[in-house]
Amino acid sequence: MTLSEHVKRLASDNGIKLQFNEHKRPRAYPATFTVRTWPVTRDDIPIELIKHPERLLFALPDLSDDTNIAFRAAVALHELGHCLTDHPGNHRWYRELYAWNWARKHALYWSPAMEATRRYSLKSYAWRRPGVPAAFPMREAA
Ligand SMILES: [Zn+2]
Repeated sequence: MTLSEHVKRLASDNGIKLQFNEHKRPRAYPATFTVRTWPVTRDDIPIELIKHPERLLFALPDLSDDTNIAFRAAVALHELGHCLTDHPGNHRWYRELYAWNWARKHALYWSPAMEATRRYSLKSYAWRRPGVPAAFPMREAA
């Protein structure tokens, strides 16, 4: 089973509608059990866009690269995780953490590239961590 097939199976098994969109930021809509995320492989790109490349806003991504595929699969799993996990306090930092942990737990495998994606993403939300004032966003450690 490929990473892409695995993502689609998890979505289907959990009743989540999966939409692939290269040009929009990946996002989960837990209320409607819908996830919009980047194509994991070239096969996920809607066929009409391949037939009409002029409708693409940007060049097709290079999806022959394993690291890129792992990155995209990790993001897709994370968005699925947003539909299937929640934090009682609805705190953004914890919602991100829970969704990433769900992704890691349910992944076909978890590569260093995927873990790097998880860590990088959580770092980007670090200023939302409890106890860190929003007025003082954490800076990248030197
Ligand atoms: Zn998230």
